[in-house]
Amino acid sequence: AVGMAKDDMLCGWYFQVFWTTLAMIILAMLQWRLLSHMRTIFVQRERLAREARQDPLTGLANRRRFDEWAKGTCNLAQRHQQPLCVMTLDLDFFKKINDSYGHDGGDAVLRCVGNVLQGLLRGSDIAARFGGEEFVVAMAHTEVELANKVAESIRASFAAQEVEFNGQQIRFTASIGLTQMTPGELEMSDGIHAALARADQALYRSKQEGRNRVTIAHSTMPMNHSAAIA
Ligand code: GH3
Ligand code: MG
Ligand code: MG
Repeated sequence: AVGMAKDDMLCGWYFQVFWTTLAMIILAMLQWRLLSHMRTIFVQRERLAREARQDPLTGLANRRRFDEWAKGTCNLAQRHQQPLCVMTLDLDFFKKINDSYGHDGGDAVLRCVGNVLQGLLRGSDIAARFGGEEFVVAMAHTEVELANKVAESIRASFAAQEVEFNGQQIRFTASIGLTQMTPGELEMSDGIHAALARADQALYRSKQEGRNRVTIAHSTMPMNHSAAIA
């Protein structure tokens, strides 16, 4: 070995180091590709799961997400004897908005509704689009008096909006029906839908009495943890 040229002696090592390094680089690149592929799949699955529970136009929850939320929240409210209020909202003369500004103008209003609701509600509340220009809001641990104030601020905020569309400002209002869930409804598996039907009746009264207003539907069953809704 002493008599050998340095390069001749290390030639085998150079060869091994070269191929080992190359193999490691190729492996690292494959791992990187695999990881980024897995990340893409993960992000796509997250997005699909989110989209399956979200209204694409307004970014609000859809019916499926609302029902999931209601299931868990009604259980908790019933166990801890906490009040829970629901309201239904329907935009007034929305067909006229579509007729005057086109479907895109109507969509701009619907997006605005989503933004206003998201801005006014707390993390423990949920706002969902049930279809067309019909929305639902549910508020956990909220008495009907406080819910009425929230409903009123939503109504007033809608009426104050000026939706920019093609250089024009679109104004809109909504009619709202509000009710508090009874202890019996909180126990029922689809009690929230019974409460929503009652809120819908109040919404109908809001429409009949001139629109752009909030009507409270009173339950015949008093709540034991709140002022009776007679
Ligand atoms: P009211 O005050 O009695 O509620 O009157 P309205 O005109 O709001 O009620 P109506 O149910 O007659 O009209 C609802 C309209 O909403 C009709 C439909 O074309 C429109 N609409 C439903 N979904 C969408 C949507 O996604 N985008 C737009 N731009 N319009 C929609
Ligand atoms: Mg409607
Ligand atoms: Mg309407």
